Amino acid sequence: MSDGLENLIIYALTDKDAVKAIYDYYVLNIPPAVLSGKYKIRKYVLRGYLARVSASGRIKLVKFLKENIDKLLELPLIYNEVKVNNNVGGVKHYSCRICGKVYKNMKKVRFHIRFKHKDYINNIITQFCRGG
Ligand SMILES: [Zn+2]
Repeated sequence: MSDGLENLIIYALTDKDAVKAIYDYYVLNIPPAVLSGKYKIRKYVLRGYLARVSASGRIKLVKFLKENIDKLLELPLIYNEVKVNNNVGGVKHYSCRICGKVYKNMKKVRFHIRFKHKDYINNIITQFCRGG
């Protein structure tokens, strides 16, 4: 399965604003500078998202976004926010809803689901591509 779609699904499972920004850029042709302000995503971070989802080709991506944007936004998030106690009282972490592992930032959550829950992601892609 293609890396671009895999990345898109991972964003859909972790950050709906990232998916909306990706949609607005590729389908509605809104420039990144505007989207960065609208969704409060730093410009270099947004450019990273846009590059990673387009890895398997822009035409395919635009088609997929048009057909599946509602379903992408409806996918349940894959993490819970948890408060972990530390010596300053507590800090926000994220626990994986599939296996319960706790991570201190979203980058680590994404890395975790990409490598530990590949089947989960591939099942979603298959369902979407079937139109189910
Ligand atoms: Zn997990």
